[in-house]
Amino acid sequence: MIHTDALVIGAGPVGLFQAFQLGLLGLSVEVVDALPFAGGQCMALYPDKPIYDVPGVPVCTGRELTQSLLQQAAPFLPRADAGSAHVHQHLHLGQLVQSLTATADGAWTVTTDRGLVFQAQSVLIAAGAGAFLPRGLGVAELDGAINVHHHLTEDDSVAPPWAGQHLVVAGGGEEALSAVLAIAQAAQPAHRPSRLTLLHRRDVFQADAALEAAVRELIHRGSVQLEIGLPQSAECHSVTEGDAVQALSLLGADGQTRSLPLDHLLVRLGLSPKLGPLSTWGMALERKQVNVSTATFATSLPRVHAVGDINTYPGKKRLLLCGFHEATLAAHALAVELRPDAPSHLLYTTTSPVLHQRLGV
Ligand SMILES: Cc1cc2nc3c(=O)[nH]c(=O)nc-3n(C[C@H](O)[C@H](O)[C@H](O)COP(=O)(O)OP(=O)(O)OC[C@H]3O[C@@H](n4cnc5c(N)ncnc54)[C@H](O)[C@@H]3O)c2cc1C
Repeated sequence: MIHTDALVIGAGPVGLFQAFQLGLLGLSVEVVDALPFAGGQCMALYPDKPIYDVPGVPVCTGRELTQSLLQQAAPFLPRADAGSAHVHQHLHLGQLVQSLTATADGAWTVTTDRGLVFQAQSVLIAAGAGAFLPRGLGVAELDGAINVHHHLTEDDSVAPPWAGQHLVVAGGGEEALSAVLAIAQAAQPAHRPSRLTLLHRRDVFQADAALEAAVRELIHRGSVQLEIGLPQSAECHSVTEGDAVQALSLLGADGQTRSLPLDHLLVRLGLSPKLGPLSTWGMALERKQVNVSTATFATSLPRVHAVGDINTYPGKKRLLLCGFHEATLAAHALAVELRPDAPSHLLYTTTSPVLHQRLGV
């Protein structure tokens, strides 16, 4: 059981700024996201595209904005080394929040699909359009198999599970082709697979021309094998940790079925947001969005606030700037609610020794 003043659901740009604002006001904070990386839409949908309307930042990519937000929130989500990987303390990734249950003393018990349990004095929902979950191939045997992946390793210093083995990348869009390119050209040769296959249902890709040309060149040179076929089923075998896929059964354009043996499968068919569990938590919703007060961003549940793309109110605009404003007001409202006896006058980061101490500057 992890105890905290505030639990932020969603590590998108607004959830990360929410953590910063809560920490600045002296509240302890934990952040949870279903994705294995922070940044929400900025990282899942447009990591390398430019953003031009963040105040004071003439231009930055989705990835750069995420890195800046993580850096800004680092006093409250400090970076730590875990073996060869880098993680942020109090940031729990790859965890889908499932239930939100009120406790007798006005707090909330929050659980995730991978067994984390939080006891939180307050909850801030920064869930965007819902939890980003990877689209599957529609083959039942692949669900939960230990060698089926959906994401690239974020940390270049860590060897991916497919290093030195046969990796099949499934998909024909931007996500699949950019993954093939990144994997084939991994900076450390030891991190590359021994064999790399791109599997798609037809020999037509949906990606920008330069990316497609680069992947076609790899196929032409024989660095990547192209396999055309529709996955029908999978052969699995049991290992200590669970089931592992050994081969995919593919239906070819000629109507024949053949087997594609593999060591690892990376399914890159994109991510789709699912509102999922959130819709059962009992909050007032309007067209899958959470109704909030525009003064405090409180929902209809006590000590539960909603910020960013997930909320709705008259005049709502789904923009980063608006989400950052909402996170600031929600943090101030919660600080007063959780610490009614503490002084509530506004402090500036430029001049306040208290804030400097919290920021460690
Ligand atoms: C292509 C594109 C370009 C854009 N360009 C701009 C721009 O130029 N300027 C601008 O201001 N805005 C832009 N936006 C909008 C901006 O990206 C969003 O307003 C912003 O990402 C919202 O942030 P958020 O943190 O509220 O939600 P999100 O970024 O959606 O993050 C929500 C996070 O919550 C997680 N989550 C949800 N439910 C759960 C759960 N139950 N358990 C665990 N985790 C959960 C999700 O996995 C996700 O990571 C753009 C959007 C798109 C799609």
